[in-house]
Order: sequence, then C-alpha cells, then structure tokens
Amino acid sequence: MKRLKLLFAVCVYAISLFAQDEVATEPSSTSEDDVLDEDVSSLDMDSAGVKSYTSLSLPVDSLKDSVLVNLYRNGWDSTRVNPYRFPIDSIKDTFVVDCRGFYPPNINVVTSECGERWGRFHAGTDMRLAIGDSVHAAFDGKVRIARVGSKKKGYGYFVLLQHANGLETLYGHLSKVLVTTNQDVKSGDVIGLGGNTGRSTGPHLHFEFRFLGNPINARNLLEITPDTMYMKSDTYTIKKKESFKEFYTYLHSPAQYYKIRQGDNLGKIARKYHTTVAKLCKLNRIKSTTILRVGRKIRVR
Ligand SMILES: [Zn+2]
Repeated sequence: MKRLKLLFAVCVYAISLFAQDEVATEPSSTSEDDVLDEDVSSLDMDSAGVKSYTSLSLPVDSLKDSVLVNLYRNGWDSTRVNPYRFPIDSIKDTFVVDCRGFYPPNINVVTSECGERWGRFHAGTDMRLAIGDSVHAAFDGKVRIARVGSKKKGYGYFVLLQHANGLETLYGHLSKVLVTTNQDVKSGDVIGLGGNTGRSTGPHLHFEFRFLGNPINARNLLEITPDTMYMKSDTYTIKKKESFKEFYTYLHSPAQYYKIRQGDNLGKIARKYHTTVAKLCKLNRIKSTTILRVGRKIRVR
C-alpha cells in the first residue's frame, strides 16, 4: 500500500511538471533568438517530488548551505529550466561561488548580451560559432536537462548542467546533444555541438549562468573577448542587486499598455510587442476570442 501511494505521488508530480512547463504557442516574427519563456510572475515553490530524487547524488550536495541544497534537491527535474521559483529578493548577499576549474564553453565574438531585448528577457550571452563546433562544460557537474527540443522555438537543442559550486549553466541552440540526463561531466568535456536550433537566426551559442534558477549576466563573472574567456577571480559573491541586475530591472519594470485601434486583433498586438496571445490573455484576464473594443487599453507587459 505504501509503495502504491508513493507511485501515485510520483505520477502526480510528473504530470504537474508537464502541466507547468510553459511553451510558447505563438510563432514570432521577430529576429530575437531566445527568451526567458518561463512564467516569472509565479514564484511559489513546489516541494513535491522530493522522494523520487533522494537516491541521486547531486553536485550541490557538497555545499555547506543546507537550505540551498534542499532547494536544489527538491527542484531536480529534467523538464524545466527554472523549477525552483525562488525569488531574487529572498537570496542573501553572502553566498560565495568557487569559480576554480572553469573551462570556456566556446570562445568567439559576443553577438548579444544578457538583458531586456524587445520587451522580453534575454537570459544569456550569445557567442558566434560554426555548426559542429565543440561546446564544453564550464565546470564539473551533472546533467539536469539534455533536451532535443524544437528546431524553431526557444532554446532548441540544449543542455543544462548543475555544478558543485551552486551555479547552473545552460548551453542553447546546439545541433547535437552529446550527454544524457543525470550523467556526470567533467569541466571541459564536450557536451554538445554548436548549431542553429530553436529561436535563432544564425549559428551561435546561447550561454547562461543561473543561481537557483535566476539568470546572472556572464560578464559579472567572466572576462570575455573574441580570443579569450576566463574567470575574473577564484571566487564570486552572489549579491542580489548586482548579480541579477538585468533580470531584477526587467521584473520590476512598470507595466506597459497599448490603446486598441481599428483593425487590431490579439495576434497583431502580440507580434507588435514581441509577446504571445496566450500571455496577453493572461495579463488582461481575457480569452483569445474576446472582442477588442477600439479605444480600450490593453496591457502588453
Ligand atoms: Zn541568446
């Protein structure tokens, strides 16, 4: 009976994972390559599913901070980039990241920086590469996500690693994923090949650092030039107002409204503001079939 109950709990949790995983439903006409497609407004924690992962040894287990270890352990899953839903405001300015052992994932010209872009959040740093170029693991770690995703949407084929120093790294738009979920990797291992999958307009690597799901601008930790990439220091202290500056600004930017004109429809407005019909509906608590009245204001972000 106990086993049956556990099995039921695991099934419920698995279903909830798929239900919560937000997918962009509208094609975008923009030239932007990738965005943070997760619902950042819902930050409540989901502590279910702990039991299914207790036997797994995680890189973060060696961290002294037991609260952090538990958050990472409870959030271990292979479907969502940010399963932690941990608000930046709750992060203490004391956590020190051990940056030793870093290996550059790819060295090339930066083509796009981390920050707000066309009204959406670009959570990583883009670097030019050629299709088939090796993409390396930044530190020792374990594969949390190895996804052969959409060739047209989001990150495309991507890998997300968890590291013993508390950071997670993400490698997007790959042409080939060379690792599998729960696999251990060493710093410098080739985890995938460069590509142009997902929301991407040319071959490049989209690289992210995340701490408890929140994106950190790679430039905070790294010195990046077209010929080099190295850690500025052996340690990096996470500070909520500095480390997540771009994301924090985006989250706290004021709402934006648009006045409906003759001939408008939700699809047209969504394209104009680089968002989706689903998101407009959610923001305004309307249905996709709701008739738009000229002159009325609609919230676009
Ligand atoms: Zn990118």
